[in-house]
Parts: sequence; C-alpha cells; structure tokens
Amino acid sequence: MLRIHELDPRFKDDLAREPGCQHLLRCFSCGVCTATCPVSEIEPEFSPSLIIRRILYGMKKELLASPALWYCARCANCSFQCPQDVRFMDIVRGLRTMAVREEFVSPEHAARLEEAERLVQELRRRLIRAILEKTDGDLDPKDALSKLLQESEKT
Ligand code: SF4
Ligand code: SF4
Repeated sequence: MLRIHELDPRFKDDLAREPGCQHLLRCFSCGVCTATCPVSEIEPEFSPSLIIRRILYGMKKELLASPALWYCARCANCSFQCPQDVRFMDIVRGLRTMAVREEFVSPEHAARLEEAERLVQELRRRLIRAILEKTDGDLDPKDALSKLLQESEKT
C-alpha cells in the first residue's frame, strides 16, 4: 500500500517542464484518452487517464518503475482526441526520459525497449502483408501471427 510520505508533490511540476508536457495540468479526467487507446483495450492496467491522475497525486516512484510506462504504442489517438490538448503521448515520452535520467531504467534497457517497439512495427507490417496477399480472404489473423512468430524463431 502506498504511504503518504512516498508521494512527491513536485512530480507534476517537474514533469510539466519536460518538452511537450506543459499542458499536463489541463487534464480534467474525462477519460476520452483511455477510451480511444488501443493498448488500454487489450491491457486494462494501462490507462492514460489513470496515469495522469497518478502523476497529479505525485506517485512518482510507482509510475517511473512501472512496466506499463513502456506499453504505449505511440499511435497518438489520445493526443488527437483530448478536448484539453493535454498531449498524453508526449507525457509518456517525458516519463520515459525521467525514468532513464533518474535510473529507474538503464539507458541500455531503454534502447532494448525501443528496439522491441521497432520489431513490433515490423511484425505488424508483415502480418498485414500476409493477410492482404491471401486473396481468397481465407487466412485467420491469429493463424497468420502464429506462423510469422514460428518463422521468426527459426531466423
Ligand atoms: S482526454 Fe485529455 S482531458 Fe480527458 S482524461 Fe485524457 S488527458 Fe485528461
Ligand atoms: S499514443 Fe499511447 S497512450 Fe496514446 S492512444 Fe496511442 S497507445 Fe494509447
């Protein structure tokens, strides 16, 4: 359980000074970002609006050490849909920068996570191609994904 002395009241102001994070305090918790986030749809633990609330509460350690910080797929849905122009995608970037700078994550680990994101994009491209190339439309996306994963294990 989180104790009050573990909260950092300066966290939101420190984060708001990171590039692109200056609109953080405009958030009024409408939840639109979470409702439009494709990662939240498959991973309920990742909720942009909840992350912003935790920032405002000062839950610095919990957020910067959380694996969820690296789940964002940088699709920008949240930034486009936010009525307050909070730009959550930039806030994720600011949190990641802080996590590395304050040694919650090593630079080497951060580089590996970035590389993992690049690989996911490559897998996505190959999956879409495999489905499009099957002109009779008879290819289950889950089967196609399993096949691609098996192939990548061999390489
Ligand atoms: S959509 Fe914008 S205002 Fe609404 S919860 Fe998300 S960040 Fe806050
Ligand atoms: S940019 Fe990240 S947080 Fe925003 S909608 Fe896309 S995956 Fe979700």
